[in-house]
Amino acid sequence: MDQLHLLWEFQKADVEVDKLEASIRRSPVRQKLVKYKDLYTEQQTAMKRMESEVSAMQDRLEALKDALKMTNEQLHNLHAKMESDPPKNSAEVQQFMNDAKRFQNNLTAYEQEVKRIRKDAGDRERQQHDVRVRAAKAKSEFEKLKLVYDDEKHEKDSELDSLRAAAAEKAKPIEKEFMERYKEIKRHSVPPLAMLNGDQCQGCNMSLPSSVVRKVKAGELVECETCGRLLIIV
Ligand SMILES: [Zn+2]
Repeated sequence: MDQLHLLWEFQKADVEVDKLEASIRRSPVRQKLVKYKDLYTEQQTAMKRMESEVSAMQDRLEALKDALKMTNEQLHNLHAKMESDPPKNSAEVQQFMNDAKRFQNNLTAYEQEVKRIRKDAGDRERQQHDVRVRAAKAKSEFEKLKLVYDDEKHEKDSELDSLRAAAAEKAKPIEKEFMERYKEIKRHSVPPLAMLNGDQCQGCNMSLPSSVVRKVKAGELVECETCGRLLIIV
């Protein structure tokens, strides 16, 4: 058998390996497993984000506590000053009232912000709870499926091993440069060898010029002008 026909025999085995590999990748169990894994990762990311948001809220609450304390002191001092040194004219009364109003407004704004943050923090807690529940569910589903998957994989892996061994056996008599050419073509066209049927490449169904057909018939190594597959007459 010439190199091209040995390569053809090898390709049959190689196709079987590829088919099984693809079916392992496409396995519904595996795809579900990936889905649960993604879901779990997603929940963990959400959890981390919420933790940092809660921590920012706590920082802000601390700062607001200080601001509230300071504003209360300002108000207190203002009242003390008014008692010890009452305003002497309407301009001073106005000034006092303006200050008092400004401090009061600040107090109200800070208190509202505190309230809002407490409410947000409460929402976050509920969300965190939901996220934790979802993460735990994804994890347990993942673990259950992993057992099924491992069984399935174990079975397919041994099947794959024997297919690979068969392909390796058929690869043995093939010269290095032929195998390299095969692999090179496989990067763009799968499978890399195509039968010539009349003047048609069976890889892409395009008709080839008679000069090309003649070369293939003469046993020359010819690639299809359209799909780049190595042409063979079997
Ligand atoms: Zn072709």
